[in-house]
Amino acid sequence: MALTGIQIFKLTPKKNCKECGFPTCMAFSMKVAAGAVPIEKCPHMSDDALASLSEATAPPMKTIKVGPADNEIVLGGETVLFRHEKTLVNRNRFAVTVTAANADEKLAAIPVVDYERIGERMYVEFINVKYTGEGADAYVELVKKAAACGGRALVLDVEDVDVAKAAVEAVKDQRPVLNGATPDNYAAMNDVAKAANVTLGVKAGDINTIVDTLAALEKAGNKNMFFNCPTTSAKEALAVAVQLRRNALKDGNRSVGYPSIVDLAAIAPGDLHMQAALAAVFTLKYGSIIIMEDMTYAPANALYALRQNIFTDPQKPMKVAPGIYPLNGATADSVCSLTVDFALTYFVVSGELERSGVPCNLLITDAGGMSVLTAWSAGKLSAGTISKFITEEVQDKINNRTLIIPGKVAILKGELDAKLPDWNIVVGTREAVQIVKFMKDFA
Ligand code: SF4
Repeated sequence: MALTGIQIFKLTPKKNCKECGFPTCMAFSMKVAAGAVPIEKCPHMSDDALASLSEATAPPMKTIKVGPADNEIVLGGETVLFRHEKTLVNRNRFAVTVTAANADEKLAAIPVVDYERIGERMYVEFINVKYTGEGADAYVELVKKAAACGGRALVLDVEDVDVAKAAVEAVKDQRPVLNGATPDNYAAMNDVAKAANVTLGVKAGDINTIVDTLAALEKAGNKNMFFNCPTTSAKEALAVAVQLRRNALKDGNRSVGYPSIVDLAAIAPGDLHMQAALAAVFTLKYGSIIIMEDMTYAPANALYALRQNIFTDPQKPMKVAPGIYPLNGATADSVCSLTVDFALTYFVVSGELERSGVPCNLLITDAGGMSVLTAWSAGKLSAGTISKFITEEVQDKINNRTLIIPGKVAILKGELDAKLPDWNIVVGTREAVQIVKFMKDFA
C-alpha cells in the first residue's frame, strides 16, 4: 500500500540539508509520497530506510530500460492514467516488423523516416524481428542485420527457446526485448532472458492468462518484463491495455504494472490505414511499443505529433536553451535577430530565418519559456533583460552591432537605444511569416 508523506518523513534523516533539491525533509517526503521523485534522491537515507521505502514508494508501474547503451530507451514508470492529472513520463515507441522474407526492403525503408520536431528526434525506434521458422542460423543472421540498422532497439519475436537463445546470444550487448514467453515455455524462456540479462515479453491469449504468466515469472524472480496485448482483435487488445494499466495505477496492483507491446501488424495485417488509426488509439491508451508493418512519412507526421502532444509535460514550459544560434553559415560579423526561448517561437522563427538564406545569429533570451507578448507583459522580456543578455552573453562573441527585435515589442526600441548605445536596434516583423521577405530586403 502507498505510504503517506508523514510515514516517509519518519524515516528521513531530518537534516533539512536541501541536497535533495527540496527545502526540508518534510517537503521532500510529500513529493516522494506523490510519486514525483524517487526516494534515492536523498543521499543521506540509511540502507535500512532505503530498503523499506524503495519498493513501497516506487511507481506502481515498472520502469523498463532496453536498447543499446548509446541509445537507451526507457518505457513504463507511469504514475497517472491521464495527462491532465499530472504528467506522462515515458512516451510510447514505434516499431516496424521485419521477417526473413522482406528484411532487405524493410530495413532499407526504416531509416527514411528520421526528422526533428520541436527538439525531438522522430524515427522508428524499434525493429521487431519476427521468427518465421527459417531455423536458428538464418534467424541469427536476420537479427544481426537488423542490429546493424543504425542504433535502433530490437524486439526478438520468437517463441522457440533454442532459436531465442542463439539470437539473444548474438545481440545481447544491444539489450533487446526477448518477446516470446508463453504459458507453455515461460520457465525456459525466463532462463534465457535472465542468463543474457535482457527484458522478457509475455504473450498469452487472454487477460487472465497474461496475469497468471506475469505472476509466475515474478515468482521466478523476474521483474523485467513487458506484456503483449492479445492479437485476436483491436477491441480485445485495447481492453487488456486499459484494464491492466488501470489495475496497476488505480488499484496499486504492482504485479501487472508492466509496459505493453501492441502488435498492429498482427491485428490488422496488410491494412496500413487501419494500423495507423489503431496506432493513434494505442498512443492515447497505453501501448508502450507499438509494432506496425511500415512507417512512412504520411502516418509518421500525425503519429509522432500526437505522441509529442500527449507526452509533453504540461507543467513545464517548452523551452530551448538561451544563447546564440548561428544560422545559414553566420559568423561573428553577421547580423543578430532576437527572440524568446519559447520552443514553438524558436522553431517557427529559426525555420523562417533559415528559409530566408541570409546568414544571421539568432539570439535566444531567457523569457521563462513564454511567447513574445506574454513574456513582455509578464516583465520577462524588457529592455532591461535584453540589454543584460546582450552585455553579458553576446557582445564579447559577436562583432556585428545590428540587433533585430520582434515587431511585437517595437515599444522597447527607445529604451534599448539608450541602454545599448553601441548597437543599431532595428524593429523586425510582427509575424514570422513576414521574416523571409524582411531578411532578404534587409540584406
Ligand atoms: S537530502 Fe535528505 S536529509 Fe537533506 S533535506 Fe533532503 S531529505 Fe532531508
